[in-house]
Amino acid sequence: MAKKENSNYCSFCGRSDNDVNFLISGLSGQICDSCVEQAYQIVKDNLETKKASNAKSDLEKDKLPTPKEIKSYLDEYIIGQDNAKRALSVAVYNHYKRLIQHVEDDVEIEKSNIIMVGPTGTGKTLLARTIAKRLHVPFAIVDATVLTEAGYVGEDIESILTRLLQAADYNVEAAQRGIVFIDEIDKIARKNDNPSITRDVSGEGVQQGLLKLLEGSIVNVPPQGGRKHPDQKMIAVDTKNILFICGGAFDGIERKIAQRLNTRVVGYATSSQNAEIDRDNMLQYVTPQDLKSYGLIPEIIGRLPILTYLDALDRSALQRILTEPKNSIIKQYVKLFKMDDVELTFDEDVFEYIVDKAIEYKLGARGLRSIVETIMMDAMFTIPSSDDKKLHVTKKYAIDQLSKSNLDRLKAS
Ligand code: ADP
Repeated sequence: MAKKENSNYCSFCGRSDNDVNFLISGLSGQICDSCVEQAYQIVKDNLETKKASNAKSDLEKDKLPTPKEIKSYLDEYIIGQDNAKRALSVAVYNHYKRLIQHVEDDVEIEKSNIIMVGPTGTGKTLLARTIAKRLHVPFAIVDATVLTEAGYVGEDIESILTRLLQAADYNVEAAQRGIVFIDEIDKIARKNDNPSITRDVSGEGVQQGLLKLLEGSIVNVPPQGGRKHPDQKMIAVDTKNILFICGGAFDGIERKIAQRLNTRVVGYATSSQNAEIDRDNMLQYVTPQDLKSYGLIPEIIGRLPILTYLDALDRSALQRILTEPKNSIIKQYVKLFKMDDVELTFDEDVFEYIVDKAIEYKLGARGLRSIVETIMMDAMFTIPSSDDKKLHVTKKYAIDQLSKSNLDRLKAS
């Protein structure tokens, strides 16, 4: 004891100044450099735990947005797609209710992962991203096409969780309550309806791997991702409470739906029921059975109990997308110009013209931005160094600008 009263010892670990790099003196004691480091770590860990539990308290029931509130938030950013919006809002609400449930009785609410079927560029990613923004939870997008079974060229399934961890700033607690959007899930469908005997690198094997994540299990995740850092320390992530939203275009699934409907009609239904089928929009009749015929394994389908669809975007939807959403393309350009004190306005028929071009070039909603960008390019180059304070875009101006540019560049291949 006498030793520790000596002024040349650390008051925390008792080591002498000979055994440490240096000692820092306080009013009635001293601390060595290694104790300072340890204390820093303790403070850091405690603060993180506190932050995580604060985040958790955001999930209290009375703070959870209701499905109607979630949907009206989605309405601000996404045009149409009512079915998908309603299904997502309910599923997400239930998912978060499930997170705050107390399992004192035998009723445990199960996870409700979601699958969205719809043509490319109709808002699947936008829906998932917007929901995550509303709920303030970590969100990651992954493309199923890059995933392969472990050991093959491509990314391991665990890389999905690496992305989520990165989005959560490596806060494991937060990541475990996040949302993952898996795009192009249809691309890992097996090529025929029969289970394969040989291993199928791109399809069924990946589906099996994915199944583990969807079911909820503890997965060792390489924090840096990839196989480039073999010595990195793995982080254990529990996927039990991660919400998975899958999306895919499922090209040609309409045929499978039609086939199924036709068989049923021939077998059981009357011709009046047959007449009710809206053949222009077959996706609305999609069922889990059609996903199976398309090549998703039944176990995966079982883990994606909420199935919803997106409508193809027609002319009026495209026009609304251009101007209506809270951060619509046109609103973004108006803001860009306003930052240079320039008032940007458009004639109504310019919007119709832009939509015409997007349809003509088969670019869909994704093409709207590149067309507007092409029309505005000249003005964006010259206006910041000119004295003009107003720019009014007429249809003639838009046509001139587009014809000056290399239009074919925009054409979908
Ligand atoms: P998907 O994931 O279905 O292929 P995205 O969600 O990535 O399509 O859509 C591409 C872009 O098109 C979005 O970033 C958005 O600008 C626009 N977009 C597509 N559908 C809609 C929609 N229904 N409402 C508003 N914008 C949309």
